[in-house]
Amino acid sequence: MAKIVKSDAQWRKILTPSQYHILREKGTEIPFTGKYYLHGEKGVYSCAACGQELFSSEQKFGSSCGWPSFSAALDAKKVELHEDASNGLLRMEVVCSKCGGHLGHVFDDGPRPTGKRFCINSESLKFEKKEKK
Ligand code: FE
Repeated sequence: MAKIVKSDAQWRKILTPSQYHILREKGTEIPFTGKYYLHGEKGVYSCAACGQELFSSEQKFGSSCGWPSFSAALDAKKVELHEDASNGLLRMEVVCSKCGGHLGHVFDDGPRPTGKRFCINSESLKFEKKEKK
């Protein structure tokens, strides 16, 4: 897969300031405020930076954590996981495999069968309605 590489200045032109902060500077949106936290339509969530399809509404579940939560990515190759030891915690960061944009973190307290909770910033996603995916 061809990776997308852009300079900071190029990303700033494409993204809104809050998208840039989260996707390129590994920011976190304030919990319970994101536009997709309680969003329940059927469709696909793509990377807000590069458009790669990342998550499906089929794997979205109601989580009380304050961010959109998914039990899996559309396919494991869509995301890369990196160890993140910032803020005195050891977490697994979730990154878009195509553009390297920061999406959120993954935790081991999700529903069966995967047991995973991909805790993703709404600002990193763009939803598109689709009947079946
Ligand atoms: Fe991306």
